[in-house]
Amino acid sequence: MTYHVTLITGDGTGPELAQQIRRCVDATGVDIAWDPQEAGVDVYAREGTPLPQRVLDSVRKNKVAIKAPITTPVGTGFRSVNVALRKELDLYQCIRPVKSYKGVRSRFENIDLVIFRENTDDLYVGVEFEQAKPETLELILKIQELNSDGKVIRQDSGLSIKPISIFRTERIVRAAFEYARSHGRKKVTAVHKANIMKFTDGLFLATAREVAKRYPDIAFEDRIVDNMCMQLVQKPELYDVLVLPNLYGDIISDLCAGLIGGLGIAPGANIGDKYAVFEAVHGSAPKYAGMNKVNPTAVILSAVLMLEHLGEKDAARRLESAVAGVIAEGKRVTYDLKQDRDDPTAVGTKEMADAIIARLRKTR
Ligand code: NAD
Repeated sequence: MTYHVTLITGDGTGPELAQQIRRCVDATGVDIAWDPQEAGVDVYAREGTPLPQRVLDSVRKNKVAIKAPITTPVGTGFRSVNVALRKELDLYQCIRPVKSYKGVRSRFENIDLVIFRENTDDLYVGVEFEQAKPETLELILKIQELNSDGKVIRQDSGLSIKPISIFRTERIVRAAFEYARSHGRKKVTAVHKANIMKFTDGLFLATAREVAKRYPDIAFEDRIVDNMCMQLVQKPELYDVLVLPNLYGDIISDLCAGLIGGLGIAPGANIGDKYAVFEAVHGSAPKYAGMNKVNPTAVILSAVLMLEHLGEKDAARRLESAVAGVIAEGKRVTYDLKQDRDDPTAVGTKEMADAIIARLRKTR
């Protein structure tokens, strides 16, 4: 069987990582007809849009995509292509397994938890009002009329709107419980700041509690996000499946990547009812662009998740164990996986992928 998959090549270190994704997946023997598509800063410079319509058309046609990272300018410039893809394709589940691999320099061993980040609600909807624009001032006046505490917002403020809906919370929490049930996991923890944001995070928590009642076989608890950060760095072994609104999910994902040795090894999947786009947790690491330096593990493990999604469980297992084998051996790995980051024996992105492919070939 031939699978049609869109390969979004990204920018910064994206293109060099995309090449290794393709080589490693092809080496599993699974037949993929790749449809490479460019998105990000380079296309923006040429075409005036970072996400041409043809990229979305390709993902809609193929239903499955794997994406190398894409830069989002900070503070100014175009809005995030990553967020736009998730919104356009309604990829509401962001699933990020957090798993220890033997041989990785880290404070912890045996971490095995899964993050379910809501991907379409919250401050990421991008409804923002610029400081000192007439519509911002109008909105501030309206909010102050409604607020019995009087003038709580200064007129020189920018404003961002944080929507949290029952519909979007329900479907992500349900997805987390369904995953827990089908993957033999025991507990779901909802993360929030409902003590402060009573109408948004409060709604998230109340909705999560309602959904949890339908899954009496899975334990449920909740944690306030700041406490959750502390708990995760002190005793991560207490957690199993975490479900979070968009912003906390984004932040906790990087915290959890830190628990298992860094962004270089943290994979992810964005899944909706119709489409799926796989990508690493990390960004485009532009300072290393074109240097053949960054770790390809996170994107290759994202490809493992893609193979599982396609139903190619054996290929997924073989690719993951080839990655784990190369890391455990610790010889042909990138700088971030060496005990000493300046270790001159560290290899490049392509050479680490070569080592993974060589191991994989032995298992075919
Ligand atoms: P980043 O994840 O790109 O890099 C942060 C640091 O983490 C790097 O400097 C590097 O030290 C390390 N790192 C990241 N990936 C690594 C890898 N594969 N191997 C080894 N080390 C790695 O985060 P940033 O610098 O905050 O963001 C850069 C750009 O990427 C920004 O424009 C941001 O918006 C974008 N971004 C994109 C995505 C995405 O495409 N889904 C996700 C996060 C950030």
